[in-house]
Amino acid sequence: MAEQNCLFCRILEGEIPAEVIYRDDRSVAFRDINAQAPVHVLIVPSEHIESLDEASQRDEALLGHLLRVAARIANEEGLTESGYRAVINTGEGAGQSVFHLHVHVLGGRPLNWPPG
Ligand code: 5GP
Ligand code: ZN
Repeated sequence: MAEQNCLFCRILEGEIPAEVIYRDDRSVAFRDINAQAPVHVLIVPSEHIESLDEASQRDEALLGHLLRVAARIANEEGLTESGYRAVINTGEGAGQSVFHLHVHVLGGRPLNWPPG
């Protein structure tokens, strides 16, 4: 169910514009408005789930799907050889600012470890 006050639900509904680069029956991917790397894409489930912490056993296949979409997009964006990072910030303390589950795909520059 779409949540009225959720930014990503509003993007999914087309109420707020975004550069969508992929869509299927369970997920949508669009470019981050404040890119932290030359490639910075967000993969979000079509269904509103607040965070990874809120995902249940019922969502296992969906979580796997989101990761496979992340890899597919990284491939399409030419990141296979250089490498890329798939990140799920969970909770405010870890930097989550939009409470609709999403996987960041970052690449196109060297990525340091550990992250900040
Ligand atoms: P989080 O901080 O929750 O892990 O990631 C949220 C991401 O959403 C941030 O990287 C932020 O730049 C991005 N973002 C916030 N508002 C918008 C928007 O309106 N459009 C797009 N495309 N990305 C957004
Ligand atoms: Zn939402």
